[in-house]
Amino acid sequence: MKATVSIRKVSKSYGAAKVLNDVSLDIGAGEFLTLLGPSGSGKTTLLMVLAGFTRASSGSIEVAGVELLTMPPHRRDIGMVFQNYALFPHMSVADNVGYPLKLRGVEARERRRRVDAMLEVVQLEGFGERHIGALSGGQRQRVALARALVFEPRILLLDEPLSALDKQLRDRMQVEIRRLHERFGTTTINVTHDQQEALTLSDRIAIVNGGKLAQVGAPEEVYRRPRTRFVAQFIGETCMVPLRREGQAAWFAGTQVSAAPVRTPAGDLWMALRPESLRIVENEDADSVCFEAVVKDQLYRGDAHIVYADLADGYEVKVMMPPDTACNQSRALAPGQRVKIGLPRDALVLVGEGA
Ligand code: ADP
Ligand code: MG
Repeated sequence: MKATVSIRKVSKSYGAAKVLNDVSLDIGAGEFLTLLGPSGSGKTTLLMVLAGFTRASSGSIEVAGVELLTMPPHRRDIGMVFQNYALFPHMSVADNVGYPLKLRGVEARERRRRVDAMLEVVQLEGFGERHIGALSGGQRQRVALARALVFEPRILLLDEPLSALDKQLRDRMQVEIRRLHERFGTTTINVTHDQQEALTLSDRIAIVNGGKLAQVGAPEEVYRRPRTRFVAQFIGETCMVPLRREGQAAWFAGTQVSAAPVRTPAGDLWMALRPESLRIVENEDADSVCFEAVVKDQLYRGDAHIVYADLADGYEVKVMMPPDTACNQSRALAPGQRVKIGLPRDALVLVGEGA
């Protein structure tokens, strides 16, 4: 089952601290949306408001056109995987997964049937009688997902579902979560502070900062077209270099970076340089902005050739090139060597401080 979610000006304060500040967001039926932001930015609070465990100070949330915030939690038809899974340690796997069905008055035989089917989906057939304590981290994760999905909720909330797992298992569970989403199509709101996870899993990403949404968009959009300094710095590996405005144009040292009118609001201006956008170039060309630089270090990493270099005024940038780039083969770069660094104009990202 799928539902649209419409979050309207939701705020939450604890005393004087405004933890959610006028959050508005529309989530499509069956969409997988990720809230991505640093620790303490309000992500869990927003999920708890949706689930009904925390009361919003103001605002409204409609699900399929019906107000959610006045409904008690058990009537909201929302499945949730908590950050620490919150499984019942004294219950078996089957009782954990069957709990939401029991709560909804589903009779024992039907319950067993649905629990077994769900355990099969998360690849835990035959684990029903085990105790939670006897499971690995990845298995607990699957139990938590099974429990959240077994009653086929309209909405699934995932609070950092993979943060307790090691890197390898995390990668595997990412694929698993995608697969579950394709199978059930449940409208999903996922929370993470891991940008890779957000970029991999999501239809759209909402970047959260200090209780506000800094930017909402498809993964490529927030990655390639960050709109504020915060978003540019939070997503991807980014060197921020301050620019000088002169009339409509933007300059760095002696280089005119952009002649076109800068669209970011008045105030400080930066260019956000991503290592994979930069190249060491022999000659300037009209399609790139070119900067003078001095090589500091370089390293060969198998899949990439990495060069650290200083631009004018000592701003260090990182250049990451494919290992077969002609320039790397023809000559090794030595520390202190003067080079030109090229940035394709279509990869130029200018950002201001933003709201
Ligand atoms: P995130 O999940 O993004 O790490 P949270 O939503 O958990 O952030 O918390 C956001 C802010 O709200 C934090 O500064 C946190 O300390 C504060 N906060 C959360 N719950 C409470 C509470 N019950 N009482 C007071 N402050 C809280
Ligand atoms: Mg949290």
